Amino acid sequence: TNKYIATPIRTKEILKKYHFTFKKSLGQNFLVDVNILNNIISHTGIDKEAGAIEVGPGIGALTEQLAIHADKVVAYEIDQRLLPILEDTLQDYDNVHVIHEDILKADVQEMINKQFKAEQPVHIVANLPYYITTPILMKLLRENLPISSLTVMIQKEVAERMAAKPNSKSYGSLTIAIQYYTDAEVVMHVPKSVFMPQPNVDSSILKLTRRKNPPVHVEDEDYFFPIVQACFAQRRKTLRNNLTSHFKGIYDKEEITTILDEINIDGTRRGESLTMEEFATLANTFYKRSK
Ligand code: SAM
Repeated sequence: TNKYIATPIRTKEILKKYHFTFKKSLGQNFLVDVNILNNIISHTGIDKEAGAIEVGPGIGALTEQLAIHADKVVAYEIDQRLLPILEDTLQDYDNVHVIHEDILKADVQEMINKQFKAEQPVHIVANLPYYITTPILMKLLRENLPISSLTVMIQKEVAERMAAKPNSKSYGSLTIAIQYYTDAEVVMHVPKSVFMPQPNVDSSILKLTRRKNPPVHVEDEDYFFPIVQACFAQRRKTLRNNLTSHFKGIYDKEEITTILDEINIDGTRRGESLTMEEFATLANTFYKRSK
């Protein structure tokens, strides 16, 4: 396995050859452990028929393993300096296509139409730049892309929030946002030692499987998500108090208590105890009243 990019020896060689210096501002922590990479890939469901999209290939550690296991890989890399390096490190693989673009600005749907076969399952796999984990995932989920799964290495605390259950410390508006679109599962925790340079935070592999339909009926998503956020605005406050702040000038505390009573949700509960279904009922009720 010494021939693989994802080893400390080869990674150091490549960095030295190109005088590459890490940019912290781009979240550059490269993986130097082939076992971890194969572990990630084994959880994706990728096989030789499948397509893979990677966000941030770096010097190609994960890209190389995807090229070996998948039919085709398309990778988005924002750092211009890495393009000539990737040409070199991935020269043996003719099924990799690198796009020099900010993933947040990319038209991923159009790329999929162009780069993958019509019925081909496509998976997103990435060791994400930690400074924009949430914006990247929310972009990819909201665009309703024809994606079978998203398997990503992210900061452990964020992975735990995304996969959290009600009544836990990690449960919050991010949990609802992610689980509205996907079934979220923390696959494994990963030691800092598999990265170069080692990050300051712990990491986990998170697997998101797209739902065919949202798990609850929401009248208006643009109304739903802000209400969920409001219920968690001050975690120690009751639902009633958080909603009173949210609806200031529209409903007073008494009116809010009455509305909550009507839908059998105790206003003295905290946001972290509400299920997704209860959030939907709550948001739909206020939404209908606003019409
Ligand atoms: N996949 C490589 C690996 O595992 O060794 C590198 C992962 S590193 C954590 C994150 C990568 O994402 C870096 O190569 C960085 O330049 C790139 N990146 C950061 N922001 C990006 C963006 N907005 N769009 C695309 N790539 C980005």
